[in-house]
Amino acid sequence: MNVDEKIRQFFPILSQQVHGKPLIYLDNAATTQKPITVTDAVSDYYETINSNVHRGAHYLSTLATEAYEKARIQVQKFINAKYSHEIIFTRGTTEGINLVAATFAQKMLKADDEVIVSRMEHHSNIVPWQLACEKSGAVLKVVGIDQNGDLLLDDYQQLFTKKTKIVAITHTSNSLGTINPIKQIVDIAHQHQVPVLLDGAQGIKSCGIDVQAVDCDFYCFSGHKIYAPMGIGVLYGKEHWLEQLPPYQGGGEMIKHVSFEKTTFNDLPFKFEAGTPNVAGAIGLQHALQFVEEVGHQQMIDYEKELLRYAVEQMKEIENIRLIGTAKEKSAIISFLLGNHHPADTGTLIDFMGIAVRTGHHCTQPLMDYLNIPGTVRASFAVYNTKKEIDVFVKALCSAQNMLD
Ligand code: PLP
Repeated sequence: MNVDEKIRQFFPILSQQVHGKPLIYLDNAATTQKPITVTDAVSDYYETINSNVHRGAHYLSTLATEAYEKARIQVQKFINAKYSHEIIFTRGTTEGINLVAATFAQKMLKADDEVIVSRMEHHSNIVPWQLACEKSGAVLKVVGIDQNGDLLLDDYQQLFTKKTKIVAITHTSNSLGTINPIKQIVDIAHQHQVPVLLDGAQGIKSCGIDVQAVDCDFYCFSGHKIYAPMGIGVLYGKEHWLEQLPPYQGGGEMIKHVSFEKTTFNDLPFKFEAGTPNVAGAIGLQHALQFVEEVGHQQMIDYEKELLRYAVEQMKEIENIRLIGTAKEKSAIISFLLGNHHPADTGTLIDFMGIAVRTGHHCTQPLMDYLNIPGTVRASFAVYNTKKEIDVFVKALCSAQNMLD
């Protein structure tokens, strides 16, 4: 399959009009649209094999269990994990990070220990660690960034002490598009025997990950940001870490035996999958990853980068535009402001022209405070976007600029 206009046929949602104009969907960092292979797989599941997994002795339950476990293996292959039991299905990135932060706080953190995060983190990779620190008495330390949005690696190295217990850093910034040097980040932490959690919410689609090559200890992502349904996500954890951490939630599949005196817990991955899982979501995720593989993930990444290059080139011509985030390595995310106009005004005006972008702080308030701006307008691309759409978008921005001026 080639990355071209044919791709759009897989996404019927894109052929509609909004406000009487053809929809141009540039809010892919918030969530991607779903190909029909994914929506078909989800409805097929409900129409043919819907059943609860693992526990049933009957035919449908066996099929549903097989499908669910097949999805786990697809994820394992996609991120090149060593074992399928290192793949924990979650609701999304946020739940994965909360799982690690809460269980790490319970077992590994004590008063005055230190947790390193960066200034460009999404709230989902700040607040769980703040809660973990509150519970344990540990302290949060923050790696700085420069004005372009690049992480200050020297600053990062300086932050390590004997008390550093974990690093939690984003693979790719959802506000700036910065792609962080994750291999270096992991290597530096490992020199200090400190594990690293990578927030892969954006990185999974825009970069891809080989967890064994990068050697990260945890990697979290959400299905919905890589063409899969909402409500399904993945926490990858190295076996020895997942073995050491206590269960996060109790009930359902996560037990081996329960008595009022003592409960013993199930093996990985089930120890961390309490309650009825999102089987349809896992199957949807499997089909989304298959879609990515069939198109070619590297081709998709290259195509998105070409869209980014083209869009930046066009947008630089717009008078008074301020591009926010010009890191050396960037994913297909452009944050910007039109002069001093409020981002929400720009977003609302171009919405009426059929263009969907995100405005605001993008759940990175500490970053916005550091940049001293209320927020940005953010356009983010996916495989189904086209240069023609970018042309319309740039024209719309010029009109919005005129109206606002
Ligand atoms: N981390 C980053 C970098 C994100 O971009 C997002 C969502 O935008 C999240 C975490 C949270 O993802 P979710 O809401 O799917 O759990």
